[in-house]
Amino acid sequence: MLTFRYRCSICNAEYERDTARYLCPVCSRNNWRGLPLQGVLEVIYSESDLRILANKQSTNPLDWLPIEPEFYPPLSIGNTPLLAAKRLGVDAGVRSLFVKYDGLNPSGSLKDRASWLVIGEALRLRESTIVAASTGNAASSLAAIAASAGLQSVIFVPASAPLAKLVQIAICGAHIVPVAGSYDDAFALSLAYTEQFGGLNRNTAYHPLTIEGKKTAGLEIHFQLGQVPDVIIIPVGDGVILSGIHKAYRDLHLAGIIDRLPRLIAVQAEHSAAIHHFFVSNEYSSQSNPNTIADSISVSTPSNAYLAVRALRESHGCTVLVSDEEIRIDQKVLAETSGIFAEPAAAASLSGLKQGLKLGLISPDETAVLLVTGHGLKDIATAQSSISLPEPIQPDPTRLDAVYDRVRGTRD
Ligand SMILES: *Cc1c(COP(=O)(O)O)cnc(C)c1O
Ligand SMILES: [Zn+2]
Repeated sequence: MLTFRYRCSICNAEYERDTARYLCPVCSRNNWRGLPLQGVLEVIYSESDLRILANKQSTNPLDWLPIEPEFYPPLSIGNTPLLAAKRLGVDAGVRSLFVKYDGLNPSGSLKDRASWLVIGEALRLRESTIVAASTGNAASSLAAIAASAGLQSVIFVPASAPLAKLVQIAICGAHIVPVAGSYDDAFALSLAYTEQFGGLNRNTAYHPLTIEGKKTAGLEIHFQLGQVPDVIIIPVGDGVILSGIHKAYRDLHLAGIIDRLPRLIAVQAEHSAAIHHFFVSNEYSSQSNPNTIADSISVSTPSNAYLAVRALRESHGCTVLVSDEEIRIDQKVLAETSGIFAEPAAAASLSGLKQGLKLGLISPDETAVLLVTGHGLKDIATAQSSISLPEPIQPDPTRLDAVYDRVRGTRD
């Protein structure tokens, strides 16, 4: 474990552990609905502590976190594979392509990394209830990890979330509160709930350890790849995964392990693109009526917009927009060329790679890492519309000629 302080991303005020829990107490007075969170806190370590860790050659991402091992929740996270995606690279037109397959976390998404750390914090604080709002994955991951730790969870989620995610939440025994409204509505309700009734709130960016937990994905990429890739392509909703990956590389840099940062490419859906517009225009406005099949990146007011844009600028990265049609196609391409079945938001990273290559933002001779953030089984309805299941055949060997004709037909 590393000792740390919190630093406000707006006024730079620093807070010792336990003197601030969520946002900067000063800057968060300017919070109101429709604006990204003001005063998101970052976890700051001392350069000397990071260098000690580097000297120990620690490649365990958990050593790089601000929590004592005694509070680690039982359901472990991370250690997901980084795959060399040769066939996909050829198809997409990039020389060296890797896929970080984070759908293989215990509840099937990268969100487990954040939930795990915040639940660890709840155990440290002896909070028995943990509260969150989510488009679905943060909720299903919170429900699972809270269950493993014996904590109660109260979860606000849009009633329109994919059925599998709602089932995941409920089967783990969470108090699920489906909201007849948007993710942004659920976010506001969950904040009001903890203000009135207590418990620890895990909302993304609102709890600073969400960023720090997601950082472990970036550390793993580094330890698995053993070099700094040129670009990492990341699907973006609230912008916390993006900040987490950036934080990993900043910590590695401060530790003296690397001498440059990868460019981060933020992929947004064309009708859920507040961070993209903020990045290109320098003026913030929320996305009115966000709308995309990639439900996990559908958000009107991205809570972490300020830090996300800063991560893009510091890393010399950029944003790209992709359409639902591209996501649908690339979900199938990803599965057919690499065997990875990703939910739509996760498949969006492949569409983003293609878009980046087309616009010249990524060059074909670079080393790229695609972050595949969630498992395809979380939303089979979308995938179902891209395939067709043949009619059943009779269990009769004379029918096999017709099967063989069909197989040969697709091979020729
Ligand atoms: C949450 C999520 C994202 C986006 O992460 P943000 O931190 O909101 O930007 C992308 N893909 C999947 C599968 C997710 O669950
Ligand atoms: Zn502040």
